[in-house]
Amino acid sequence: MGLIGTVNSTVRSFLSQPHRLWIDGQWVAAASGQSFPVENPANGDTISQVAKGDAADIDRAVRAARAAFEGPWSQLSASARGRLLWRLADLIDQNADELAQLESLDNGKPITVARAGDVPLAADIFRYMAGWSTKISGKTFPISVPYTPGAEYFAYTTKEAVGVVGQIIPWNFPLLMAAWKLAPALAAGCTVVLKPAEQTPLSALRLGQLIQDAGFPSGVVNIVTGFGEAGAHLAQHPGVDKVAFTGSTEVGRLIVAAAAGNLKKVTLELGGKSPNIIFDDADLDVAIPGAANAIFFNHGQCCCAGSRLYIHDKVYDKVLAGITQIAQTIQLGEGLDPKTQMGPLVSREQLDRVCSYVRSGVESGARVVVGGRSLEKAGYFMQPTILTETRPDMKVVREEIFGPVMTAMRFTDTEDLLRQANDTEYGLAAGLWTRDVRKAHQVSARLRAGTTWINCYNIFDAALPFGGYKQSGWGREMGEDAVNLYLETKSVCLLK
Ligand code: NAP
Ligand code: MG
Repeated sequence: MGLIGTVNSTVRSFLSQPHRLWIDGQWVAAASGQSFPVENPANGDTISQVAKGDAADIDRAVRAARAAFEGPWSQLSASARGRLLWRLADLIDQNADELAQLESLDNGKPITVARAGDVPLAADIFRYMAGWSTKISGKTFPISVPYTPGAEYFAYTTKEAVGVVGQIIPWNFPLLMAAWKLAPALAAGCTVVLKPAEQTPLSALRLGQLIQDAGFPSGVVNIVTGFGEAGAHLAQHPGVDKVAFTGSTEVGRLIVAAAAGNLKKVTLELGGKSPNIIFDDADLDVAIPGAANAIFFNHGQCCCAGSRLYIHDKVYDKVLAGITQIAQTIQLGEGLDPKTQMGPLVSREQLDRVCSYVRSGVESGARVVVGGRSLEKAGYFMQPTILTETRPDMKVVREEIFGPVMTAMRFTDTEDLLRQANDTEYGLAAGLWTRDVRKAHQVSARLRAGTTWINCYNIFDAALPFGGYKQSGWGREMGEDAVNLYLETKSVCLLK
């Protein structure tokens, strides 16, 4: 039973309702009539039931999104669109405690983190993107056209919404990923079919209710809970103009292949194996807790987790001892307990995957300095883990583990370090810790990653783009970059 008895009454009543799909402004049962259980990863209990949407439901949702795109949504002024987004942000704030409790129960993350991070960041992106609604603009061009001498033209561009967008999101930040996806699409004037992860559908469904309360026209946002097959149908759907996906690189490749049928636009936010570098001149009082947070935050279930720690030889022992000490004292527990610093992993499958990575590391010669085991109790708890004595070819150094597992490695020469740091198929993020400003900028410029954090880690803001180089993705979340990815450019040329 755990702490579920302590949630507020609105959460309790939300959990006890059977949840339907949100299509065309109506809460409807799946066409198949089927539903599936939602689990509390802190103890494996079923906490709610949601509809199991499949291809037929995706078809209905795409039709609704198309009708809304061609009808009420395109007739609304940019200012009115912005006001709806702003109202939604206010509703998220007003329901913040409830959303944080739902997120903690469904995903396992500490309630303190959901309350201070996930929920306010979700409100923030809607507010930030509300502002963009009225700031989307084209340009004028003084064109000369050499083959029509004497003719004069007025030439300009306008920006138009891409159209109907399919958005497929993962389970690590369920509400925030929904917000990062929905906000720029809606600001740009697109309509959406959203498919949450099967493990964590609840906060997206609550968000759907808030979108309804905010007064968005029917069909602008449609939410279809279900499994990968629903996502696959959405990705290949000929009625969808763009698909935006966050999740594994493996599924990212399937999305690209599925999108080829109608050459829909694709953006991808995929995995990472981010290097985090501590130089010998770093302020270790900041770098040690910073590096621990880089990997252990959200239980390592972050695409940008600082999973490969490179420590300068001169400070290696001190840094390793410091992070080990932090790992030993992290309070593991049920997310709803305000004392919890690290909750369970999201599912049995994810715990098994993380444990099998640790085993593979040990079998190939790595040493477990701290952690390395799951807790022998109900729920999917994994100890914060540090591996040393790794080699660059080991799976634990090359592949995304997506759990609280860090590999700690020693370096002396900066050129050699840069080679190792960039020796990955990923390129999402990187961290570096130094007091030398010049070195910080030089190293940052040579790291092949979409974000570099200097003397900090996991810092996000709605204004700052986030996304991957190499196989970490296509395109960016947040900021002006994200809005542009939901817009087409129309060139207009008029003979004067
Ligand atoms: P995943 O399979 O990539 O799931 C992400 C989303 O894609 C979910 O909504 C999923 O639905 C959907 N999906 C699955 N197969 C699909 C398909 N063929 N076509 C379209 N959509 C599809 O991720 P996962 O299996 O939950 O996690 C596996 C690994 O992915 C993790 O260990 C981690 O390495 C990585 N991951 C990365 C991120 C990130 O933020 N970059 C987030 C989560 C996971 P279902 O939920 O029903 O499968
Ligand atoms: Mg769950």
